[in-house]
Amino acid sequence: MSDRAKELERAIFNWYLEGDNAAPEPIFNVIADGYEYDLQMIVPIETSDEMIKMMGDDGKYFIPLFTSKDEVDKGEPTSTINQPIKVLFDALENWIDCLGFMINPWGQKLVLEKSTVQMLKSYERRAHISIIRGSVLEPHVSAIVNAANNSLLGGGGVDGAIHRAAGPELLAECRTLNGCETGAAKSTKAYNITTADDIIHTVGPVYSGKPTDRVQLSSCYTSSLDESFENGNDSVAFPCISTGVYGYPLDEAAHVALTSIANWLDDHYGILKNVYICCFRDEEYEAYMRLIKG
Ligand code: ADP
Repeated sequence: MSDRAKELERAIFNWYLEGDNAAPEPIFNVIADGYEYDLQMIVPIETSDEMIKMMGDDGKYFIPLFTSKDEVDKGEPTSTINQPIKVLFDALENWIDCLGFMINPWGQKLVLEKSTVQMLKSYERRAHISIIRGSVLEPHVSAIVNAANNSLLGGGGVDGAIHRAAGPELLAECRTLNGCETGAAKSTKAYNITTADDIIHTVGPVYSGKPTDRVQLSSCYTSSLDESFENGNDSVAFPCISTGVYGYPLDEAAHVALTSIANWLDDHYGILKNVYICCFRDEEYEAYMRLIKG
């Protein structure tokens, strides 16, 4: 699977993960980028019985497209070819009875009607920030951020969960990094964590009530995003840094996180398309909702 197709599969997964009211922008960002930069889709060249069932009685139909061989194999066996999404999107206007595309019809499917395809051809990409409930280990992304401690050798909370999921090779790589200063960030591979390619380890401040807390917390977000840029990550998932054992008040932490990420994105147009802020505890999610709605 090409990286762009993988990124599309990830964005669709996260859209389902978020459930009702999930914003479509993360998916649109990946498709619009792929329209410009050669996103290859897998197209079946035989019409299986399952596909015929997808067709309407009036002869109108959706064309099935797949992001990976695994997605193809969820249905009846079929031969396939690869096609750039640009070629498919541009040809759609000429296929009168075709209603659009159905991406991954046998799995987490995404329906793109003709009007949506038309809109996506000139869609203005803007990196999107999603606030989601749950662990940073749930969304599928290029990189997850770990709220680590200065040693980078593992700890409690999300740090422990990430080390357990990644396995002992992560600890071995972390040993080579010589720790990390508060507010800085360092990257490793994700090892046994299949939901991401890289891990960006950052160290949040232990809350003290001093003005430096805010500066250091902001720096965790921007340093992590700088790392993601270096790594070439398309999407990044953050936990709420310092709001667990390190005791940072939730409302202020949410404000610092959101403004730091938004400012960074304004200054860095390009590779990074989607940011997910993961709220493991309900209170963290509620703090973000207060901030956004207030
Ligand atoms: P910190 O020391 O930076 O406060 P914590 O790990 O205590 O780090 O908390 C950071 C974030 O990770 C918070 O959003 C917290 O709710 C979340 N978190 C805590 N434990 C887990 C876990 N087991 N899995 C996923 N996220 C967790």
